[in-house]
Amino acid sequence: MSIEITNVNKRFGDFVALDDVSVSIPTGQLTALLGPSGGGKSTLLRIIGGLEQADTGRVVIEGVDATNLPPQKRNVGFVFQHYAAFKHLSVRRNVAFGLEIRKRPKAEIRSRVDELLALVHLEQFAERLPSQLSGGQRQRMALARALAIEPTVLLLDEPFGALDAKVRRELRDWLRRLHDEVHVSTVFVTHDQEEALEVADEIVVINEGRIEQIGSPDDLYDRPANDFVMSFLGPVT
Ligand code: ADP
Ligand code: MG
Repeated sequence: MSIEITNVNKRFGDFVALDDVSVSIPTGQLTALLGPSGGGKSTLLRIIGGLEQADTGRVVIEGVDATNLPPQKRNVGFVFQHYAAFKHLSVRRNVAFGLEIRKRPKAEIRSRVDELLALVHLEQFAERLPSQLSGGQRQRMALARALAIEPTVLLLDEPFGALDAKVRRELRDWLRRLHDEVHVSTVFVTHDQEEALEVADEIVVINEGRIEQIGSPDDLYDRPANDFVMSFLGPVT
């Protein structure tokens, strides 16, 4: 099974944000959408998640045509760069939120949230407010919250972009570990070549609304499809 994106086009006025994009993302894979700013990465991610509608084309998630489904019917979890935490709710309630609005039984919510907080090593912070967490801890909370509903797809848009380099590397390792523990297909947007090459199973390189190359980190290194990919990967620092 997979996420199948077929011939997706998206314009904003006259501006072509996505130009006939097709990509197949295998289930269970950790996939990076990599490319320069303005290339269309977030737009594609938002179309996969249902936050944005394609003008034409189809999105099929695990065999279900999701093209016209709203986000809440797609079983996707989101993590964004700036996590919109509920400031007045504890870490526990923030993580529980998606389960509470789905009216899951209290005992089930409690044990599920305990499990998630343990997974991201925030057990001892359960009763704190988000403002009492560091930036890295807050994004771990965001990961736990996104995973609470047991999504089939986890979508992350520059999730570590606002953090400093050291924390970003830590969180990158966290993401890889969580992805391997929780069986979920993960798609994450980054403009950071090193991040994509280090963490992803497969990388989709997007520039000016078009896919330049799809391949493993090794493929991109050893067999760049064109000059753009070669120069974009460039000297990795
Ligand atoms: P990336 O995430 O790769 O930086 P985006 O997908 O956010 O790129 O944006 C691609 C292009 O589409 C950019 O030039 C951006 O300005 C434009 N764009 C994105 N969303 C909108 C919108 N809602 N209205 C108008 N233009 C948009
Ligand atoms: Mg973006």
